[in-house]
Amino acid sequence: MEFVWRHGDWALRDCDDCQRYIFRDGEIARGPDKEPLANPAPPQCEKTPCKSREAKPRLAPWQADVLRAWRTCRQYRCLPLAGGLAAQDEMTMEIFEGLDSLSARLEREELERITARR
Ligand SMILES: [Zn+2]
Repeated sequence: MEFVWRHGDWALRDCDDCQRYIFRDGEIARGPDKEPLANPAPPQCEKTPCKSREAKPRLAPWQADVLRAWRTCRQYRCLPLAGGLAAQDEMTMEIFEGLDSLSARLEREELERITARR
């Protein structure tokens, strides 16, 4: 989970796609013909936040969807579904709560680490 928080873009990226294509803003970059752009210099997992293809946490497609929604909601300060609290899906909101408290804890720890160094 910490990997997902620290390196969300990498967590959402499939290693095979990463080796094959260029990424822009977390998505596969496409040319004017809408074809994915091949990456002439594929990154090695060892040199990216993945560290290793095998050890990298894998998200199920639904988990990736929830993570994307959470990131968007945080960025724009909105709820996942339009229409107020009553319109929200209970399970998604529970996962959001979990991600929020994890994120708060990790931010606090990061802050403590930074201030302890001085
Ligand atoms: Zn990788």
